[in-house]
Amino acid sequence: MKPFYFEHKCAKCGYTFLSPRLGDQSYGLFLLRTKLCEVAFLDSFVDGAFDEVSNLFDEQKPKYSWINNDELLVKVFHWVYKITCDSAPSGLEYCLDQLPRCPKCYSYKMVSSKETYPPQLGEEDLPVVTHKHWDSLSLEKKKQAVIQAIEDYYREEYPNYLAHRARIIEEAKKLKPYKKENSSANKT
Ligand SMILES: [Zn+2]
Repeated sequence: MKPFYFEHKCAKCGYTFLSPRLGDQSYGLFLLRTKLCEVAFLDSFVDGAFDEVSNLFDEQKPKYSWINNDELLVKVFHWVYKITCDSAPSGLEYCLDQLPRCPKCYSYKMVSSKETYPPQLGEEDLPVVTHKHWDSLSLEKKKQAVIQAIEDYYREEYPNYLAHRARIIEEAKKLKPYKKENSSANKT
């Protein structure tokens, strides 16, 4: 897959730079980036790890049924997917939701991000994300890794998550005696 480009202008230092983007027909296709803006390509229709982690993630969903928010679930899934990816040449991890960053001052803030006009097609194919380490794991290890990654997401992105979860469990406990009182009240 050869990339097209966005032209970004950094809000902090004013530097203008290009970063890869996908073409218009890109359903199911993704770009992964590291914090140093190394880019890898993912075609979710042919990527075995994507399917595997989707299934393992779905198995865990009932535990998180109180997260009644599809957008958040997608974010969590994207976070979990990165554990299947081999590191970039720099040794950094690839992330699905990583924004392009200014190569001069490393700011994420842009004044503008627009398609180049006319659209410029890159000359070289983007490297495809690989899963050598993930593929070497047993199914049980993969399952444990997914469970751990989901926990890590909430710990890092939602520091109040554990307190929130504890509160929900406490509230659920309080519901039980309430039901008992009701049923005994009905009997008498
Ligand atoms: Zn900058």
